Amino acid sequence: MSRSASSRANRRGEPPSSPEPLPSPAVDSHTHVDIAVGGEDREPTEAEVDEAIAAAVAVNVPRLVQVGVDVASSRWSAELAARHPNVLAAVALHPNEAGAGAATEAALAEIDRLAAQPRVRAVGETGLDRYRTGEDGWAPQEASFRAHIDIAKRHGIALVIHDRDAHDDVLRVLDEEGAPEHTVLHCFSGDAGFARACIERGHVLSFAGTLTFGSAGRLREAAAITPLDQLLVETDAPFLTPVPLRGRPNSPRLVPHTVRALAEVTGTDLKQLCASLTSTAERVFGSWQHEDPSAASGGTA
Ligand SMILES: [Zn+2]
Ligand SMILES: [Zn+2]
Repeated sequence: MSRSASSRANRRGEPPSSPEPLPSPAVDSHTHVDIAVGGEDREPTEAEVDEAIAAAVAVNVPRLVQVGVDVASSRWSAELAARHPNVLAAVALHPNEAGAGAATEAALAEIDRLAAQPRVRAVGETGLDRYRTGEDGWAPQEASFRAHIDIAKRHGIALVIHDRDAHDDVLRVLDEEGAPEHTVLHCFSGDAGFARACIERGHVLSFAGTLTFGSAGRLREAAAITPLDQLLVETDAPFLTPVPLRGRPNSPRLVPHTVRALAEVTGTDLKQLCASLTSTAERVFGSWQHEDPSAASGGTA
């Protein structure tokens, strides 16, 4: 989702209480802590951000991927990852921002520069959105997607894809450009057929709270046929709050609801699924541990 979409974020009602902690550490592979905590109008304080992350750690979610959607939020994400042991960052210009003309040469150069930072481990979210962006914006959106694929490959880091109503075109562009080794379809929204096409290519499917929605039978079929080592789970907070809290504000600490739903859908032992989500996330994004021990701030993630 994009920052400009944050007015559509779930803001009704009090923040729900945290679910029961997971039996083993898991991961929120895609979240927007800046928007979830601060909203559209203001930047959250460091204390508020740390509190939201601590609440995730408390339910056994000690690994988060914080995702940028424009130059400002990508910088913010890179800075958070640099200072926080529980966070890695992804940086990009969101497809809806690109469709509106934001993917200028200068903006792409800044994303390229941020992608070189040691705790920036993915380029994303990039991709195609044919739902929010009208036909006029499709050409700049696709050009931006291609540029982001190139940045990810040059830096040897993962690619995180936003795909809204654009399944075939996303695969076409990936096939034409050559996908990076680690490519994630965030908030996977296809059916079993599209899942199969992604799985065959070695891509990783990340499921959001939509997996828990009553109407999401086809999504659950897609999850059920996905090999365990190609599965991730995310909140996309503040969006897409999982059942039974749908419509209330989403936050990384709520990802256990979706992890439990995925365990049920895939018939996997919950502990085993948590272990698999962590190892897949570390394969895709690398270790959360600070490379430089003198820079570590005591986290165990
Ligand atoms: Zn998205
Ligand atoms: Zn997102």
